[in-house]
Parts: sequence; C-alpha cells; structure tokens
Amino acid sequence: MGAYRIGVLLGDGIGPEVVPVAQAVASEAARVCHLAVEWVQLPVGLAAYEEFGDTLPQQTVDTLRTCQGWILGPVEHHRYDPRQPGMRNPSGFLRKHFDLYANVRPARTWPGVPSRYEHVDLVVVRENTEDVYPDRNVLEGDAELRVTEDVVVSLRVVTRRACLRIARYAFTLATQRAAQRGRPARVTAVHKANVLRRGDGLFLECCREVAAQFPEVTFEDVHVDAASYFLVRDPVRYDVLVTPNLFGDILSDQAAGLVGSLGLAPSLNVGDRYAMAQAVHGSAPDIAGLGIANPAAEVLSVAMLFQWLGQQHGDTHATCAARLLEDALQATLAAGVLTPDLGGSCSTAQFAHTMQQAIQATLKAWEER
Ligand code: ATP
Repeated sequence: MGAYRIGVLLGDGIGPEVVPVAQAVASEAARVCHLAVEWVQLPVGLAAYEEFGDTLPQQTVDTLRTCQGWILGPVEHHRYDPRQPGMRNPSGFLRKHFDLYANVRPARTWPGVPSRYEHVDLVVVRENTEDVYPDRNVLEGDAELRVTEDVVVSLRVVTRRACLRIARYAFTLATQRAAQRGRPARVTAVHKANVLRRGDGLFLECCREVAAQFPEVTFEDVHVDAASYFLVRDPVRYDVLVTPNLFGDILSDQAAGLVGSLGLAPSLNVGDRYAMAQAVHGSAPDIAGLGIANPAAEVLSVAMLFQWLGQQHGDTHATCAARLLEDALQATLAAGVLTPDLGGSCSTAQFAHTMQQAIQATLKAWEER
C-alpha cells in the first residue's frame, strides 16, 4: 500500500482548534512509525456554507470516496435548517451515504485524570444507520412529519440486516478486546424490548442469534433504563455494550461523563470500506475561540482510525502509530497536562506541544525496552 489518503474536515465551533492538533500529532506518530499518510483537507460545515452555499459540498463527498478514511470535526448542525437547500447535517449524511454502520465509542479511565470511578474500560457499539434518526432512516424525504401545527409523527426503522451486522461487530470486538486484555469477553445488549416489543424485540432476537455463534463470549441483555442505572452504580461491570442508535447516543455521553469529560471521548464510525474518526463531543460553542478546548478526543479518534487501517490492511505501521498516539496521550495526561474540562489550566496549544514531546519520549522508552 502506498500512502493512505485521509480526509480532514475541520467542522464548526472548536473543530478548527482541535482537529489540526489531532492531525499534527498523528502526522508525527505516522512519521516515526514509517506510515505514509496523505492528508486531504476538505470543506464542511458553516465555513463551507459561507463559501460554497453547502454545509457538505458534493466535491467533499466525491473526494472522500477516494480516501480510505477521514476525520470529521464537530458540526453545529442544530444551527442548520435541513429544509434549506445546502444545509444538511454532514454527520448523519456521511454515516448513511458511506454505510458506516457501527459507531464505536470507548470510555475508559486514565491515570492522572480525576473521575468518579477507577478501572472503567468499556465500549458502546451503537447501530448507526436507522432507528428514529430521520436524517438516515429513509431513502428520500424525512421520517419526522409535522402533520398539523400540534401533531408530529416519527418513524422508527429496525431491520434484521442492520441488527445482525451490529451484533456481529460487537461480538467480534469483544473477542479481540478479551485477547488483548487477557480477560473473558462479555457483551451486553441494551434495549427496551419489554415495551418496544417489535422493534427492540427484533434487535434482541438478532443479538441472541449472533451470541449463539460466539459461545466463548458471555452474553446478557438489559433494559436501557436499568443499564443507565447500573452504568452509574458500577460501570466496571461492563465491557462491550451493543445498542440501537438512540440509546447508544445517550449512553455513550453518559459513559464519557463517568470517566472524566466529553473532551476525552473518541469514536470511530466503521463500515466495510471506509471509517470516519469523530469525537463524541459537539462543537462546544460556549468555549469556541478561547483556546482551551481539549483535543484528546480527536487524537484518540484518529488513533482508532489508524488501528482500523492496521486491521484492514494487515499494516503494522498503522498499528504502531495508533499505539504511539495512545501511549503518548496517556503520558501527557499522567504528567498533569490537563485542559480546564479535566480540572486543569492548560491551553489547547500547551497540550499539543506537550504531546509532541511525549511522542518522542514514548518512542525512546519503547526502544529502550
Ligand atoms: P451537540 O448537540 O453537537 O452534541 P452540545 O452542545 O449538546 O452539542 P457539546 O458541544 O459536546 O454538546 O458540549 C457539551 C459541553 O461539553 C459544553 O459545556 C462544552 O464546552 C463541553 N465540551 C465538549 N467538548 C469539549 C472539549 N473537546 N473540550 C472541552 N470541553 C468540551
């Protein structure tokens, strides 16, 4: 494989502050691991609307097709009016268009970062293409209808195909995590099949079918309300949580809060051919432009993208760069270089600078081992 082409879409709000930091430290990690990357910056979001009259110009979508993966910065899509031409939500559109069916959202505790719990290491595997999200659950039109001034009708879509493939993704991931961590694999299906008997009933049926194909993985299922309760009481009990779209969106933010900050919560949107790195957090307009945003979630999201490239292409250079980013981030946090969301006073720029140095120090430590 020559150089990987990776798209860079800065997004809105704090996006132009945190995405370039992730790109810079990822470039350095790639360089020292001999991983060739060609970064391709592409317009998206409010800046793209200003320039091209479109929050996701066609040229961006066409170019992404020539990339192996990309980084999507946060988009302030609640400020977009989807009824206006050129104002679609890039995040939902790209997930649907490129069939990025699994949204993988890990949450773990980090040494040196104050959090309510210790030793949390879980991952939410969220179905990404259907459920109640009107921007992706129908081919044309919008699945949320305002029938009269006072009545809204929403459509929920649940298909066997999507449920089976998200369940397979979760069980495969649990098996890999168990091998890496030397502990038994465990998958928890989160649903509300006691009330949403047909939709979540189908989801649960598919999870059970896949569980039977992975006898070495401990499988349990739990109602979403109980899962929220247990997650707060005892998050250490969970390993891989597999969920329909909406429940996964909510539970992964909750999990991020339990381990520190949204600023530390990464995600990868995965399909069979492409992957999109995207921090869990939004555009954080309350702190945009202040130079204090935490870039760690973006950095970890790019590490997940490198890890995925490594797996897809059997490429140890990509796996090396992913590990280097994670280890250097861990060293940076452990040294107390914390942005205000984590209780520190360090700026985005200071964090970036320390992390660049941590990459060199981590590499030296690896070589001395
Ligand atoms: P969205 O609907 O796009 O998810 P939101 O306003 O609901 O947006 P966020 O933009 O994620 O949610 O912001 C939630 C809170 O977390 C805000 O107070 C924001 O400042 C904070 N926050 C989010 N991301 C970061 C970050 N990277 N660094 C520091 N604080 C952050």
